[in-house]
Amino acid sequence: MTRYEVAIVGGGPAGSALAWLMARSGASVLLLDDGRHRPSAPRETLLAAAEAGLQRAGLWQFAAAAALPDAFQHGAIWGSDELVWREPGQNGLLLQRGAFDEALRIAANAEGVVRIDGARVQTIDASGEALTFVAADGRSHTIACDRLVLATGRRPRSDLVPLQERHRGPETAAFSLCGTSETASHTAVVEAVPQGWWWWIGDGEGGGAATLLCCMQEVAECGARPLLAAALAAARGPVAQLRDPRLVHATRATARVVETTANVLLCGDAAATIDPLASQGVEKALAAADHAAAVLRTARDHPAWWPTLREQHARWERGLFAAHAQTSQAFLARETRFVEAPFWRRRLVAASPPPPVPRERLQVAAEVVESEVFVRAGDQFAPVAGARHTTTGDAMSHIGYVPVVPVLRAFAQPRTLAEATAFAGHDARLFVLPPQVVYAAAVVLHQQGWLKGAPSGATSH
Ligand SMILES: Cc1cc2nc3c(=O)[nH]c(=O)nc-3n(C[C@H](O)[C@H](O)[C@H](O)COP(=O)(O)OP(=O)(O)OC[C@H]3O[C@@H](n4cnc5c(N)ncnc54)[C@H](O)[C@@H]3O)c2cc1C
Repeated sequence: MTRYEVAIVGGGPAGSALAWLMARSGASVLLLDDGRHRPSAPRETLLAAAEAGLQRAGLWQFAAAAALPDAFQHGAIWGSDELVWREPGQNGLLLQRGAFDEALRIAANAEGVVRIDGARVQTIDASGEALTFVAADGRSHTIACDRLVLATGRRPRSDLVPLQERHRGPETAAFSLCGTSETASHTAVVEAVPQGWWWWIGDGEGGGAATLLCCMQEVAECGARPLLAAALAAARGPVAQLRDPRLVHATRATARVVETTANVLLCGDAAATIDPLASQGVEKALAAADHAAAVLRTARDHPAWWPTLREQHARWERGLFAAHAQTSQAFLARETRFVEAPFWRRRLVAASPPPPVPRERLQVAAEVVESEVFVRAGDQFAPVAGARHTTTGDAMSHIGYVPVVPVLRAFAQPRTLAEATAFAGHDARLFVLPPQVVYAAAVVLHQQGWLKGAPSGATSH
C-alpha cells in the first residue's frame, strides 16, 4: 500500500493550494479529484483586496498564474434604482472556473504532488489514515496517509465521514443563464431584485453570464422558470440587456458550517461555505489552505498536538464564516426596496443589539477554563497561554493585544468592570496597557458569555 504524508480529496482551489503548499514544505502529497467539474458560476472574481493576505504564502501568485487580470468595470444596483460604478482601482483576477482549477492542479503536480483525476473515493478508514478509491480505469486502490484532508466543496459527503452542521443560513439557490450582450460584456454588476440578486459577469466577447441567487422555498412554491422570468423582468442593469438567455447551470448556494468528529481535516467550502454575496469564496479557500498547511506542518513536528490543531482549524473556519455573515448582513440591510418579498424577508433579520454594559459584579463562567491555545508563528503554530469555552469550543489568547488570561483572573472573584480593571493593573501584563483597553476587553468577554453576572449576595474583593 502506498503511503503519503498528506492525502487530499478534492482538487478545487482549497485542495490544490494546500497540496501545492505541502509539497513545497517537502511532504509527499496525494491529490484526488473526481473530475466532475461543478462550477459555482461560469466566471468568478478574486478581489484585489485579497492580494495582501495571500501574497505571503505565495498563493496570490499561484492563483494569478492560473487566471486573467480582471479589467472589467464593476458596479452595483443596490438600495436604489441607479447603477453605481465602482471607482477604478487595482485589478483583481478573473477566474474561468474549470480552466482555473485545472491550472492550479497542474501547478501542484509540477511541485511534486501526485495527482489522480477521475478518482471516486469509496471509503475512509475510521482512523483517518487510509482510504480506498476507484480510479478512472475502474480499478480499486487503497492508500495510507499520516493526515487526511477533505476539500470536496460545498456538497458534504456524510457517507464518507460523520458530519455535523453547526450553522445554516437561509436556503439559497443559484441559477446561471448565459447569453449575448452588445453593451455589457466588459462589466461585472450585482443587482438586487425582489426575487433575490443578480450577479452579472461579462465574457469580454459580446456575452456573459447572469446568475440569480434566490430563495429555495420560493423556487419550490413558484417553480424555477417563472421565478427566473420575473427576476429578468425586474432587472434594470446589464441583465436586462441579456439576449437569448439560456439556463446553463443550477446549484445550491446555502451558507453553512460543517464539522466532523472523524480524524480528518475539513478545508475550504467543505468546512464552511460563505454567502456568495461576499464574492470571497475562492479567497477564503486559498486562505484556508494556508491555515491548514500551517496546521499540518506543526502536526508533523508535534504529532501529539494534532487533535487540538484540528480543532483550531475548525474554529478558524467558523470564525471567518461568522465575520463574513456579519458583513453580508450589513450589505443586505442596505437594500430596503423589497423588504416584503420572501427572499429579503427571510434574510433581513434585525441584528440583536449587544447586551448593555453590566453594572453588577461579574465572574468567570463555569464553562471557561484556562488552556494553551495555538497562535500562528510564521509557517507553523506555537502554543501560548489562553482560555477555552468548553461548551462552544471557542478559544482565545488575546482580544486585540490584551492577553485574556490575566483579565479572566481579575474576575476569579466577583468584581464590577471598574473594580476588575483596577485590580488587573496588578498584573504586569496588563499594567503596561491603558486601563480603558483592558476594560473594553472585559466587555467583549461579557458579550461572548465568558463573564457572567455573579449570584446576588456575592461579595467583591
Ligand atoms: C453562484 C456563486 C457565485 C460565486 N462567485 C464567486 C466569486 O465571484 N468569487 C469567489 O471568490 N467565490 C465565489 N463563489 C464561491 C466559490 O465558488 C467557492 O467558495 C470556492 O469554489 C470554494 O473552493 P473549494 O476548493 O473549497 O471547493 P470547490 O471549488 O467546490 O472544489 C471542490 C473540488 O472537489 C471535487 N470533489 C468533490 N467531491 C469529491 C469526491 N468525493 N472525491 C473527489 N473529488 C471531489 C470537486 O470536483 C471539486 O473539484 C461563488 C459561489 C456561488 C454559489
